Amino acid sequence: MFEMLAHPAVSGLLMMSIIGGLAYKAHFLDISGLIAAFVTGFTIWYTGGPAAFAIILFFFISAGVATKYKYKAKVKKNVAQEGKGKRSWVNVFGSGIIPMIFSVAMYIAAMVPDLVAAGWPFFLFGGYVGSVATTSADTLASEIGVFSKSKPRLITNLRRKVPGGTIGAVSLLGEGVAIAAGLIIGVIALGFAVLAPTWIPGLVTAENVVVSEYVLFLIPLSVLAAFIGCNIDSLLGAVLQNRFVCEICGAVTDKEFHCDYETKYVGGFKSFTNMHVNLGSSVLGATLGIILGAGLFVWILGGLFFWIAASSSN
Ligand SMILES: [Zn+2]
Repeated sequence: MFEMLAHPAVSGLLMMSIIGGLAYKAHFLDISGLIAAFVTGFTIWYTGGPAAFAIILFFFISAGVATKYKYKAKVKKNVAQEGKGKRSWVNVFGSGIIPMIFSVAMYIAAMVPDLVAAGWPFFLFGGYVGSVATTSADTLASEIGVFSKSKPRLITNLRRKVPGGTIGAVSLLGEGVAIAAGLIIGVIALGFAVLAPTWIPGLVTAENVVVSEYVLFLIPLSVLAAFIGCNIDSLLGAVLQNRFVCEICGAVTDKEFHCDYETKYVGGFKSFTNMHVNLGSSVLGATLGIILGAGLFVWILGGLFFWIAASSSN
């Protein structure tokens, strides 16, 4: 009996049934979202193992809670998720598909001796963490950042103050939330690295030795990916996403209705929606995670330094 329960397929089905049931009861998901979450969660549990699963679970729960947080106030500000904050399959796959692909990739890489020898299972785990950190940071920063007391600014022109909920708007509160999201994910990964290192792909070598430098990478990797990924998301949104202006309050949104009136199309690619922005930033966050997982911090920190120097000089 216990042997059967210990099989990842059985434990995964059992766990996803419990979590899915609770999430549905808490109105985090509609029925299509529930099915999508079941597929995503089970695949990640089965292929990525408990550490990867715990990380996506953090995203899932925190995003659900943050979306519900002061939902009525968000409706008043016109920044609330549609459908009473219940996520559908589009939302779930939008944030889960890239992590799921990386999870399957680490599973496969772990079975190929050459890839294992080159360190790929861990680099792909870095990509996994990078994509979840980006998505979590973006979701939590938008859901909580709208309560910023000071007016947010536009990421493409930091001197310009814009109404809350504007596409590409950034605030100090949002940036702080993004970093905190990365930090929590990093701490979860580090917890596994210390207590159950074999549960993190590629962390323990074939000779049963924990690669200590990888352990040290986990928190900086997660925090940097969250921070940079979340800002790339705002940047992509500000530049590419379809934008509509509300003629009542002046807000620039992706919504075709605002303040109970139809909005006016003002720019961006018409078929480029928030989902495309999120997918794009998730891929970039994953790429960043692979690079950071491979230990190439110097590049990223150097690039970040020049970017900040360049953007603060004009
Ligand atoms: Zn409006």
